[in-house]
Amino acid sequence: MSRQVIFYGAGEHAKKILGKHPKLKITPKPLPLEDGVCFVDSDVKKQGTYLMGLPVLSIEEALNLYKDADIYISIGNFEDKKTVYKELIKKYGVKWHKIYGGVRLSCHYLEKFIVCGYHECAFGGKAGKDCGMHSFKSCCSDYGKNAVATVPINGDLSRAFNQFLELRFKTIENINLGIPTKCDNCIELKEIMDDPPNQFYYLIYNELGICNSKCCYCNYKERLGRDVSLDVDFIELMKLVNEYGFDKEGIVELCNGEITINPHKQEIYSLLRDKRVMFLTNGLVYDEFIQKKLLDGTGIINISLDCGTRETFIKVKGIDGYNRVINNLKKYSSGKKGIFNIKYIVLPTINDNIKDIDNFIQLCLELKVDSVHISHNLCLSYKDYNNQQTIDAVKYFIERLKKNSLPYELYSKNIIEKLLY
Ligand code: SF4
Ligand code: SF4
Repeated sequence: MSRQVIFYGAGEHAKKILGKHPKLKITPKPLPLEDGVCFVDSDVKKQGTYLMGLPVLSIEEALNLYKDADIYISIGNFEDKKTVYKELIKKYGVKWHKIYGGVRLSCHYLEKFIVCGYHECAFGGKAGKDCGMHSFKSCCSDYGKNAVATVPINGDLSRAFNQFLELRFKTIENINLGIPTKCDNCIELKEIMDDPPNQFYYLIYNELGICNSKCCYCNYKERLGRDVSLDVDFIELMKLVNEYGFDKEGIVELCNGEITINPHKQEIYSLLRDKRVMFLTNGLVYDEFIQKKLLDGTGIINISLDCGTRETFIKVKGIDGYNRVINNLKKYSSGKKGIFNIKYIVLPTINDNIKDIDNFIQLCLELKVDSVHISHNLCLSYKDYNNQQTIDAVKYFIERLKKNSLPYELYSKNIIEKLLY
């Protein structure tokens, strides 16, 4: 059976948008007028008439006749769209992903992201400690100060994937019905007017396991001896995600471990040739696939350097690899079309000094980085940062970035931004 669309609203707005665009495209699914089966209007005077060749019905009649139809809210007024959206879900039990052109309370992570892997708990106040739970979730952090809802994988990826899809759908529905969810009070919840996504846009594969660095802010000790036998198989995961639908412009992020030394990297790469990929790498090993992706514009590289001198590098990373990393970064940056971001995790008494900051900025200029990301050590709290040396260093850092017109982003609302303002 071909797609059926009920247009909710048979007023001037409907005439305007549908009349002008007989093949109205609503991405990602096209929503052509010829798929329309009827209009719906609460005005009884309109019911029983015809508009653009389609009958105008009451909502009850329409839902009774076309149980599986998608509904497009063809009403212009924002508040009315919201009311109709809520009513469709609450009173008539229509699923949120069948409603187009509405206004719902939701979050882009919840709708477009899928995070798969070993939960680090980094944002839950237990940084540096793995929870030991392989799971699916919508976001890897905890913007809402609640633990985001997760589905444990427990060795059955396919079952967990389907449960995650259900959980995600249910969460969005419950948010709009006012039923408590783990996402309540999250700062990311907003009124969204986009059409419901029927594909993922962002996959975070958080399961790379092993690493060749020993960053002082990481759980590398646990990582070194970790049992990787229960880690999620990337090939199986990608198959499930592709079958469900992955946006052709979507991004796959490889993180939580070091991809360049992963024993399965060639298999992983073979599935990512036509995808945009974000590599979270430490830069210790030069990798041709990363270089190729950067050159053809489908790669994004995020490196946490956290210093500007060899001595500090050793303190932060636990190994003597500064020159190696800088050489690799220079190779990566030559001729790149992809995106190149460098991170500086501010570490009190370790890298909060002028020499490291100056050298780091000089390097960013040479490498023509796209953005500098400034963050804090997730294992530490505001009081660890609230001292004059660190405050002065952070202020100096921002001034220098501005002076050199280097784009930057602060990933630390509760610490770095607080120190600044
Ligand atoms: S916790 Fe916040 S950011 Fe995460 S999925 Fe829920 S609303 Fe989105
Ligand atoms: S590079 Fe990343 S995974 Fe490796 S030790 Fe450092 S923080 Fe941990």
